[in-house]
Amino acid sequence: MDIGLFVQLIVAVFSLGIVIILIVVLSKTKKKTSVLNSVEILADELDRHKKENLLLREELRRIGSVDNLFFASMIRLTSNLKPQKIANEITDLLVNCLDSKGTAVFLADQRNKRLTVVSHHGLNDNWLPKLVYELDNKNRMGKVGVSFNEKHTITKHEFAILGLTEPFPVFEPDICYPIFFEKKRFGVIAIIRKKDLDEREKNLLGVVASIAGVALNNTRSFADITFTAHTDPLTKIYNIGYFKELLINELERSKRFQHHLSVAIIDLDKFKEYNDTYGHQAGDHLLIQLARIFEKHFSETDTVARYGGDEFIVMCPEIKKQEAARILGNLLHDLEMYDFARGKEKVQVTFSAGVSSYPDDATSAVELIRLADAALYDAKGAGRNTVKQHHPRIEKI
Ligand code: GH3
Ligand code: MG
Repeated sequence: MDIGLFVQLIVAVFSLGIVIILIVVLSKTKKKTSVLNSVEILADELDRHKKENLLLREELRRIGSVDNLFFASMIRLTSNLKPQKIANEITDLLVNCLDSKGTAVFLADQRNKRLTVVSHHGLNDNWLPKLVYELDNKNRMGKVGVSFNEKHTITKHEFAILGLTEPFPVFEPDICYPIFFEKKRFGVIAIIRKKDLDEREKNLLGVVASIAGVALNNTRSFADITFTAHTDPLTKIYNIGYFKELLINELERSKRFQHHLSVAIIDLDKFKEYNDTYGHQAGDHLLIQLARIFEKHFSETDTVARYGGDEFIVMCPEIKKQEAARILGNLLHDLEMYDFARGKEKVQVTFSAGVSSYPDDATSAVELIRLADAALYDAKGAGRNTVKQHHPRIEKI
């Protein structure tokens, strides 16, 4: 064989070998890279899933804690009897469960004439005194007032359709939820939002407003029951049951601070005659008139109550017996001046009264009342139209 040809053949075989080796190496590397790629993609995917899982778990935990918050808040709402606390609870709950720029709870005054902010989040405190919606004036009503009057949820859009404008440009709520229970309206929850409420948020607000209505209705019922339990239905001053409770408490205070305390019982003179002459209704009217006069005559720290029939009872903290007797004497004098005229006839009304005091006469409420009653009996015996102070001598009679 030609040497040159042989060398050429060797070179060709060697080159082919290198090409084959290269092809094999290259193909192996390619396989390796694609496997590596797949592993990387899988790892990435796994990582993404892990992250999503974590987020989901976090969201679940958040929803769980929001639910817990929600239920705890609902319990506090319905077991509360103070409107201010109920309003605060509503605000706190909505701040925790709803993404809003501002939340305000408005409550109506007793005559449903005005709505004022009772609790809020995100509002400027300087605005608050100005945010008073007038419920019988269309121009001062705003969304808050319309929602209250109509017992309806009202949005910015619905408000615009009514052709009304907000009276306070500083506060333009996006949605208002009325707080009511059956026929009774209590207030409004007003929300400022960046975006529209979704279904879940609308449901949440609806539930909160309804429960708030129940809670505020409970508050009013409780106040009504308490008023009835403490008040004399004819004269609207305290009844003797509540007076005794107050007297026991006041007596405790007098003992603690070593103050005097006087108790007086007032009984109208010849009231039967008044009834017989002018009728029972006129007698009722006189009792009401006298209750007002007595309330005015005594100071704010004193307490006037109806004992029953034509008898009244008064408690004067930090007043000695002589001073209490003097105040009652002035009252008798004032009544002489008072014109209780029935038609053209001038009618004279007088009373008899007995006074006792702590610590001079007795240390218990029961005993103080008993001794004041004994002194009153003494005053009647002395010819009426007079005030008698308890004196140990009276006890012996
Ligand atoms: P005295 O000077 O001794 O007190 O004579 P009086 O006529 O006032 O007699 P007394 O205090 O014993 O009687 C109270 C009367 O008050 C008896 C009853 O007819 C009347 N009375 C009691 N409650 C009411 C009431 O709610 N309305 C009216 N109109 N009269 C009442
Ligand atoms: Mg009488």
